[in-house]
Amino acid sequence: MSANLNVDPAELAKFSELAHRWWDPESEFRPLHQINPLRLDWIESNAPLAGRKVLDVGCGGGILADAMARRGADVLGIDLAARSLKVARLHALEAQTTGVEYREVSAEALAMEQPGRFDVVTCMEMLEHVPQPASIVRACTELVKPGGWVFFSTINRNAKAFLLAIVGAEYLLNLLPRGTHEYARLIRPSELAAFCREAGLEPQHARGLQHNPLTGRYWLSEDTSVNYLMATRRPADAE
Ligand code: SAH
Repeated sequence: MSANLNVDPAELAKFSELAHRWWDPESEFRPLHQINPLRLDWIESNAPLAGRKVLDVGCGGGILADAMARRGADVLGIDLAARSLKVARLHALEAQTTGVEYREVSAEALAMEQPGRFDVVTCMEMLEHVPQPASIVRACTELVKPGGWVFFSTINRNAKAFLLAIVGAEYLLNLLPRGTHEYARLIRPSELAAFCREAGLEPQHARGLQHNPLTGRYWLSEDTSVNYLMATRRPADAE
C-alpha cells in the first residue's frame, strides 16, 4: 500500500489551522495540556523513558514529545501537518528542550526506513483521525524493537462516548472545536486490541481517562467506555 494514502487531508487541515495555538494552554489544545502529566506518568510507569529512543506518531505541536524529551528520552516526533511541526520545533528552541527532533513523514514510510529502531512508540489521540488506523498500528509494530512498548490512546465508539466526547466536549462544554471527532472513526478497545494482535503486538492493559467537567480534574480508571489508553508490547522473541 502506498505510504501516503492513509491520511485524510481534511483532518490535517483542521490541525494545521490551529497550529499556532498548540502551546497556548487555554486554547483548543487545553485538554491535551491537562492530560499530559497523567499520560506521561502512565507511560513511564510501564516503560522508563530516560536514555530510550522514543517515537511519537502524530505528535502535533509536540506536547507529549517535548515532555518525554524532558524526562531524558531521545525523541523523534512525526506528523504530516507541516505547520504543527514548525511550531513544535520553535517550542523546543524557546523552551531549550534537548533530545527532541521532528520530521514530516508518515508512520508507514518511517517503518520502511527504520524498522525496529525505537524502544518506545507513542501514538496518542491520533488513530481516530486516519482512514486506516490498522495500518498505523502495523507501522508502530514494525518501528518498535522486539520487547519494546507501544502506547495508544483514542476514543471508544458507543452511545456514551458519542454523548460525552462529541456532544458534551464539542457542543456543550466547548472543550474542543466542533467537528474535531467523527463518530464513525472512533475505535472500540476490542477493535484496537484486534489491530494490535493482527500486527503482532500484545495488548497488556487498558485504562480509562476520566474527566470531571465541574472540577476540570482528569484521572485514570478502569472505565474505558469513553477516552482510553492501551499499553501494548512487541514480543521479545518476534522474528
Ligand atoms: N499526539 C498529539 C496530538 C494529537 S492531535 C497529542 O496527543 O498531544 C492529532 C494529530 O494527528 C494532529 O497533529 C494531526 O496532524 C495528526 N495526524 C492526523 N492524521 C495523520 C497521519 N495520517 N499521519 C500523521 N499524523 C497525522
